[in-house]
Amino acid sequence: VKFSMKEKIILFGGTFDPIHNGHIKVALCAYDKINASKIILIPARRSPHKQKQPAAADTDRLAMLQLATENNSKFQISNIELNRAEPSYTIDTVRQLRLKYGQDAEFYWLLGSDMLRDLPLWHKINELLDECCICLMNRGGYEKPDFDSLKGKLSPENIEKLRRNMIETPLIKISSTEIREKLLNDEDVSQYLAPKVLDYIKRRRLYAAKD
Ligand code: ATP
Repeated sequence: VKFSMKEKIILFGGTFDPIHNGHIKVALCAYDKINASKIILIPARRSPHKQKQPAAADTDRLAMLQLATENNSKFQISNIELNRAEPSYTIDTVRQLRLKYGQDAEFYWLLGSDMLRDLPLWHKINELLDECCICLMNRGGYEKPDFDSLKGKLSPENIEKLRRNMIETPLIKISSTEIREKLLNDEDVSQYLAPKVLDYIKRRRLYAAKD
C-alpha cells in the first residue's frame, strides 16, 4: 500500500513585541493537535507606513524569539518577512515557503481570535485560504470567534473551512501590549515571559520609561 505522509508545518506570524508565554503555549498546543513537524515563527516587519509600530527593533524582536525558543527544537524562526520590502503580505510569505518546502508540505497558519474580524480584508484572502489552512485559536479576554459575522464577506465554503479548522487551544490572557504597559510602569512581568527574554529586555532597557 502506498500512502503519503505530508509534512505538516505550523506558521505563526506576529509582531512578537515581545514574544510571551501565551504565544509559546498556544503554538505548542496546536503542534500536538495538528501533529506537526515544526513551528515556524515569522516576525512581521516594522512598517514605515503603519501607525501601530513595534516598540522594539527587528533585531531585538528576533533576539527575543531566539532566547524564548532556544531550548525547544520544535521551533524555528524565519526572517522572511523582515527581509522583504513593504508592503508585506501573508500570501507572499506562504508562496515563498511553498517554494522552499514543496507541494507536499501542508501549511497551518495560526491566528488568535482577535484577528478574525479583519481577516476578510487580507490581501488575496481567497487564494490564501486555498494555499494554507488558516487555524483560528481562542484567546483569553476575547470573544469566541464569531464565524457568522463573516457572512457576505467570505464565501460560505471558506467560512465553513475556518469553522472546521478552529483549534481548541487553552485560553491564556496575555498580550504584548499589556506586557509593554507593565514594563513601562515598572511592574512585575516575570510570569508572562521566558526568563531569558525578561533578562534581555532589562539589559537592553526595552519598553522602559525614558527619563
Ligand atoms: P499586541 O498586544 O502588541 O497586539 P499580541 O500579544 O497580540 O501583541 P502578536 O505578536 O501581535 O501578539 O500576536 C501574534 C499572533 O498570536 C496573533 O495571531 C495573535 O492573535 C496571537 N496571540 C497572541 N497572544 C495570544 C494569546 N494569549 N492567546 C492566543 N493567541 C494569541
